[in-house]
Amino acid sequence: MADPANALPFLQFKGVKKTYDQKTLVVVDFNLDVAKGEFITLLGPSGSGKTTCLMMLAGFEDVTSGEILINGRPVNSIAPYKRNIGMVFQQYALFPHMTIRENLAYPLNIRKLPKEQVNAKVDEYLALVELQAFGNRYPGQLSGGQRQRVALARALIFAPDIVLMDEPLGALDKKLREQMQYEIKRLHEQLGFTVIYVTHDQTEALTMSDRIAVFNAGIVQQCAAPDELYERPANLFVADFIGESNKLPGTLQAIDGNTATCQLAEGSTVHAQIANVQQAGAPITVSVRPEKIAIAMQQPADGNHAPADFITRLYVGEYIRYHFALRDGTEVVVKTLNDSNAPQLSAKQAVWLTWDALDSQALDRGEASRAP
Ligand code: ADP
Ligand code: MG
Repeated sequence: MADPANALPFLQFKGVKKTYDQKTLVVVDFNLDVAKGEFITLLGPSGSGKTTCLMMLAGFEDVTSGEILINGRPVNSIAPYKRNIGMVFQQYALFPHMTIRENLAYPLNIRKLPKEQVNAKVDEYLALVELQAFGNRYPGQLSGGQRQRVALARALIFAPDIVLMDEPLGALDKKLREQMQYEIKRLHEQLGFTVIYVTHDQTEALTMSDRIAVFNAGIVQQCAAPDELYERPANLFVADFIGESNKLPGTLQAIDGNTATCQLAEGSTVHAQIANVQQAGAPITVSVRPEKIAIAMQQPADGNHAPADFITRLYVGEYIRYHFALRDGTEVVVKTLNDSNAPQLSAKQAVWLTWDALDSQALDRGEASRAP
């Protein structure tokens, strides 16, 4: 994590812009300081500019304007192969005609390491990814997950300072993907390299990263730790893209410090944390996560609450998912743990939904892709 005593960030993107066609910017104004050893994820929908940022860092694409610095040095003064960056992509890109040992030895051989050192390193990294028994096989003789572990070992074997991973688990099924997520985290903690990871999978981003930069249309919408992104989304795009949110339409009435007073379209007055709203009278969305809402049978004396009618209840196993309608027709999803407190409700039963002002955000409705 960031070392406050060390003023110089290890890796910096400063005002980075990229266009491929001299017309549209696919990366608009990318600014990011990365501390040594940090695990940073670029998360966003397809086409939002994530891979382009990796390619510029690796040196495979030019920066249209702005600067990328490693240890304070602009990278364009450093040849790609001298940047000491390891890479893992979705396609394993192993050499099919080389054995696993030869694949792992390759980055060391081109760096002209002596033969004994190469052999020792190959043994060490085969053990690290638990493939000791597979050294003499060819990539075609391994499963997808095993091949991706080889690709990972090959990206790490020359002790790079930075490892770029572009949707490295995209080709694997869910169970294998979760296993590999754990594997990557374990290696990251053990070896301490800096990771720039690209994914469009928000769960993967939340579970693996120190910080996540959420991209949309080439613009970083928010860059923060997973819990902050989830608990305090800066705008509607982030609230929607990360996890599930209820979106209650309303109007901003007043601002007091960090708290907004909001009139919901269904009639109730509620309080919410201020995200990106400023103007009293402006149309806003109050966003609340489904697990932050409780179901009350009586009207609470105070706190945020709104009357609602029960629509349906879905049994998911570990939790129960309820759907309600507010008086203006807005549908609200509530998730509760599957325990004895989960209420049984009858069709159209009237209840009260309650939630803490600190668990809700007042968000500008027009803020789709502009930076916060
Ligand atoms: P992501 O990785 O988030 O899916 P990319 O960085 O690959 O996004 O792409 C961002 C935008 O740049 C897209 O509109 C894509 O079509 C365009 N793009 C990517 N690579 C090239 C290229 N080599 N030439 C022209 N356009 C490209
Ligand atoms: Mg991509």
